[in-house]
Amino acid sequence: MSYPEYVLFFDNHTMQACYNVGHNFDADSFAASVKEIGAELVGFPAKCNQGFCYYDTKIGIRHPSMKPGHDYFGDLVAACNKVGVKVTAYLNCGLSNEDGVVHPEWCQIGKNGEFFHPEVINSMITPYARIMCINSPYRQYILSLIKEVKEKYPVSGFLLDSFNAFPCYCRHCMEGMRKLGMNPENDNEVAEYALISAKSLAAEISEIVQPRRDGLLMYCLGLSARDNLKYGSYLECECLPTYPNWGYDALPIRSRYLRTVSKGEPVFNMTGRFYAWGDFGSLRTDAAIEYDLFYGLANGMRPNVGDHIHPSGLYHRGIVERLKKVYGTLKQYDPWYRGAKNPVDLAVLFSGTMATRSTKSAVRMLCELKMQFDCIDELNDWSKYKVIVLPDDILLTDSLQKKVAEFLKNGGKLIATGESGLDPEKKVFCFEKEWGVRFRKEKTFNPAYFTMTGDYKELVPALPLSVNSDCVETEALTGTVVAGNIIAPYYDHKWDGVYSFFYTPPDKVTEFPFVTFTGQVAYCSGKLFDGYNTAASVELRDVFGAMLKRLLPDPLLQVESGFPSFARAIVSEQPGRMMVHLLNYLPEKRGEMLIVEEAVEAYNIKLKLRLDGRTVKRVVMAPAEEEIPFVQENDHVMFTVPKICGYGLAAVEFAE
Ligand SMILES: [Zn+2]
Repeated sequence: MSYPEYVLFFDNHTMQACYNVGHNFDADSFAASVKEIGAELVGFPAKCNQGFCYYDTKIGIRHPSMKPGHDYFGDLVAACNKVGVKVTAYLNCGLSNEDGVVHPEWCQIGKNGEFFHPEVINSMITPYARIMCINSPYRQYILSLIKEVKEKYPVSGFLLDSFNAFPCYCRHCMEGMRKLGMNPENDNEVAEYALISAKSLAAEISEIVQPRRDGLLMYCLGLSARDNLKYGSYLECECLPTYPNWGYDALPIRSRYLRTVSKGEPVFNMTGRFYAWGDFGSLRTDAAIEYDLFYGLANGMRPNVGDHIHPSGLYHRGIVERLKKVYGTLKQYDPWYRGAKNPVDLAVLFSGTMATRSTKSAVRMLCELKMQFDCIDELNDWSKYKVIVLPDDILLTDSLQKKVAEFLKNGGKLIATGESGLDPEKKVFCFEKEWGVRFRKEKTFNPAYFTMTGDYKELVPALPLSVNSDCVETEALTGTVVAGNIIAPYYDHKWDGVYSFFYTPPDKVTEFPFVTFTGQVAYCSGKLFDGYNTAASVELRDVFGAMLKRLLPDPLLQVESGFPSFARAIVSEQPGRMMVHLLNYLPEKRGEMLIVEEAVEAYNIKLKLRLDGRTVKRVVMAPAEEEIPFVQENDHVMFTVPKICGYGLAAVEFAE
């Protein structure tokens, strides 16, 4: 199956109060605009989160202000297909306000018997919308709508929203739980049942859509990537970096994880032309949109820009022109993206769904250090990584212990910080000998300071430095190299009834190790990544950098000079060549918003790339293929990229 490479997605959640839905929609001119931008696939609502349908339905509720007989969605599909643009149908399966108005008995019920409003627990969801219970008769209703759309229109797939698995206490869910022997009074079991219900709905939809058999795209927003590949056929990475829930730390994690989950299925990188869903009047700069999409392309994802269509159906020229320019810029580099894979040295372990503060900081530091890495969960194959990072709070469950044992047995190396490596009860390091330290207690001083020692003394400035997070108290085993120690404060932060112990300066260096090394494990007793998330002190990154260097002395890429910490460098490869993607954009917190206004220039970026046995024929800058001088020394190639503005792509081509 060949997949579309450039995608657009439109929200079209129009309230009943919008009086002219689709009245100005001209399907042919819409399709021409999509074509002009250079997109090959459009996602468009057949049913929105207000519960209204935009197609000729016999089952659902047509938007009341659509002109009689107007098949908005159907006309759009026909006009797009005529010019070679595919369409996927969006249906919201969870939010459906109008259905909740007509059928209050289909609504999700909260723990106290009230109508459930998700804004209580997650500000991202449309406030005050009714949420439908997928175990009520609503399930058959939404299934019949999906079936109707599939049978009626030549769509290329389905994007199905709001598989949020919110706990529901309606009578259908309570009965369902009891049938499975689950306890409705146990919060965890209610949450588990909600997830079981969301997955079973996805499975039933999959039976109708038959995405693999019929070559259709299918993705359920809200389910995990691994579940989506079970029921659907591709991956969608929805990420608006301007939204606080995502920020600029989310895409690096998701992109580096999803590419390890995909078995060749495409991953779409959905950003937005605006700052937030529901924000009709913003247009992010070329540089801001480009940054997200270049980042995705460098990491094996295809561009998708989220948008709103105006309720009347107008597609504003200002948006068309901006996206045409951005997609035009990206397309020049396509020959270097197609089929490219990302070679990596190391990986960061996380749950695969929730990225903690520590995951985010570990990934951020590795990006700042220009390391080549994946984000993985415990189901990935770990054998391809030289080093795996266990950030701060990875407790070793039985299944993780098995993975770690096997990884260590095969010579793999680990960087662990804080509590990582402890058993789930936090009593002992599961691999005490390999870790090189014995556990004493969960938390040492508050606050803890540190100093580096021995060969690592010069790594940081000569003063006691803050960890900015908790430290585990350990003792080094015989033979373990101690590279730093914890410094105790005069006293801990506290209030003793008379005095506030607020000023807590560092006092004495203790015997408790801060950083230790064994043959296979570099361990830092401080929660290094959590500390960096709090205070971004570059010395913490220097400590992490030294731990990395000890275990990975010859990383795939080294940026020797000319490229700031906020810039990103990502390596990919195709048969016969390796690419170094250079991204120089600076997200800035401006008032309450995170913005990228312009691409930033960088000059004389000095790079050193490991060749793993290959011989270099030439080094060129894409897309013009201007050659740049290089030197090959043993297994490395060195070259200097003279100038980039925002994005630059250097390709190292190999001799036959
Ligand atoms: Zn329910």
